[in-house]
Amino acid sequence: MGPDAGTVATATTVGDGTLDDVLAGELEKLGRAGLRRTLRPVHGRTGAHVVVAGQPATDFSSNDYLGLASDPRVAAAVIAALDGDATGAAAARLISGNHPAHESLERDIARYKQTDAALLFASGYLANVGAIPALVGPRDAIYADALNHASLIDGCRLSRAEVRVMPHRDVDAFGAALAADRGRFRRRLIVVDGVFSMDGDVAPLDRLVELARDHGAWTYVDDAHGTGVLGAHGRGTAEHFGVEGAVEIVMGTLGKALGVAGAYVAGSRPLIDYLTNRARGFVFTTGTPPALAAAAAAAIRIARAEPERRDRLRAVARRVRDGLAALGHVCPGVPDGHIIPVAIGEAGETIRVGAALSGRGFLVGAVRPPTVALGTSRLRITASAAHTDAQVDGLLEALGATLPAPRP
Ligand code: PMP
Repeated sequence: MGPDAGTVATATTVGDGTLDDVLAGELEKLGRAGLRRTLRPVHGRTGAHVVVAGQPATDFSSNDYLGLASDPRVAAAVIAALDGDATGAAAARLISGNHPAHESLERDIARYKQTDAALLFASGYLANVGAIPALVGPRDAIYADALNHASLIDGCRLSRAEVRVMPHRDVDAFGAALAADRGRFRRRLIVVDGVFSMDGDVAPLDRLVELARDHGAWTYVDDAHGTGVLGAHGRGTAEHFGVEGAVEIVMGTLGKALGVAGAYVAGSRPLIDYLTNRARGFVFTTGTPPALAAAAAAAIRIARAEPERRDRLRAVARRVRDGLAALGHVCPGVPDGHIIPVAIGEAGETIRVGAALSGRGFLVGAVRPPTVALGTSRLRITASAAHTDAQVDGLLEALGATLPAPRP
């Protein structure tokens, strides 16, 4: 009989030690730099209220912008879908894992985004690493914002296209690079976050689609943080700028404002049929559990029918930002932007402030490298329609007691 799974030795010495020795050394280095991360269980989510290690807390770190993650109508959709049907899709969609709930959700997404069609992915990460390499390859060029999300960066790398990293939101730089590359590539793709996940600012999509049109490029927008939030109807960044028809490839997630899980790419019928065949992050993975597709459909219905959630989100964001400004921390972005970065700088200090806030019952993101560049560690505070004024005021009081003096 072999040893128990828990006692298997990883004793082969390779280079500078056994696997465990080498990794323990790496973890120690991360720890010394203030970059080691650990998991903590968070449960009992009700609105913005959560329980962390047995202690109640208010969550200002989630992406549950509309408060739908704990909406009982979404939970009811899951339960109803499980009645008499399987939990798992049991196969990739192209094999035998394609459920009517997937197709129905895709129709709902297409209607919501006002596109011909949509394709569901198991996560936003998979959508980006699946779709981008399907669309461009070694003979092509990508023009990518420097602050794009890691999943876009990975998708661009996997494509093996030439990637031009553009200064953040710098339309002139995008224009100059597109002009300089004229005639050199087969296909060209502009790739940006709609709302930048760690800074909360918005890509200048109106001007980028104009550039794309002028220079014969396509536009790929990751609207993970704009979906459900931006635009009069919450259709996202393209709606906000009035350019919905002009963005060829719109990716969005179902696990943030919509409170469930998964992601989609929305666009023309040929785009969706092509990705169904060629996006490896779609083809080679098990279909989303059908009950989650039903849940996402319910969340979209609520997000569309209850615009007051977006108004509340903006009011909460404004209250947080105004309170921070009164403490001397003027945060970048628009006055009612729902992602609120508070600059700290050094990773260790950021962790210290995050932990102090957590000790006072408030969860905020303590964001450090590699998520953001060295020296730009920050608190990432997110607003939710689920926050009460009392919760916001409690956070502001805790921030007043824990934040270092504002950076000049
Ligand atoms: N894109 C952006 C901009 C994101 O912020 C995230 C999630 N942090 C993703 C993609 C990945 O989405 P998911 O969590 O569904 O994998």
